[in-house]
Amino acid sequence: MSGAKKVTIGVLGFQGDIEENVAATEQALSEMEVDGAVQVVRYPEEMEKIDGLILPGGESTVQSTLAAIQHSLPVMKKRISEGMPVLGTCAGMIMLSKRAFDRVIGETKQKLMGDLDIVIERNAFGRQNESFEADIPMAMVGEDSFKGVFIRAPAVTEAGKDVEVLAKFNNRIVAVRQKNVIGTAFHPELSGDSRIHRHLVKMAVDFRRDQKINN
Ligand code: GLN
Repeated sequence: MSGAKKVTIGVLGFQGDIEENVAATEQALSEMEVDGAVQVVRYPEEMEKIDGLILPGGESTVQSTLAAIQHSLPVMKKRISEGMPVLGTCAGMIMLSKRAFDRVIGETKQKLMGDLDIVIERNAFGRQNESFEADIPMAMVGEDSFKGVFIRAPAVTEAGKDVEVLAKFNNRIVAVRQKNVIGTAFHPELSGDSRIHRHLVKMAVDFRRDQKINN
């Protein structure tokens, strides 16, 4: 359990849009008037001190390789299995998946955490210069659609029976949830809309409270 006084959200800090996720989470905390903290985390002992975690967009192979070198992957997995809420955006969702493919190279031999029972197609919407924005209906965060920013975005091609589909775009699954783990193919940290980060904060507050009750 987090020993800190306030609810603390960690952002995995090896590579990718770390600062953008810190800013989006700070915005969420302030909009919700929650007295919380956001911390960039890299090492195993830091993973023990947070109530929620964000795996940012960026390059999934780089992030999981560096997390493995620092021995942080097993601790992240342990915390997730204890119920700690996690949000993986784009590369972060790829890291959380159990298998990943690329149309050009086939199955990618990257290290995956497997906490989401999903199969991923990497770069499913084309390459960097085919990045785009689209309004994505997503009931989890309310009636108004969410502005999805897609940058070399993956899509979910298979989802297990325990996986809830949260959003689709062009008939492809672009956001999922499995218990305490949420993955989005797009980048909520880049849209200026903190609703998905607020959802994670809410889950982290609940998780922290439940842990206190049980300890
Ligand atoms: N295609 C990238 C990957 O496989 C993800 C892109 C992103 O996070 N914007 O890691």
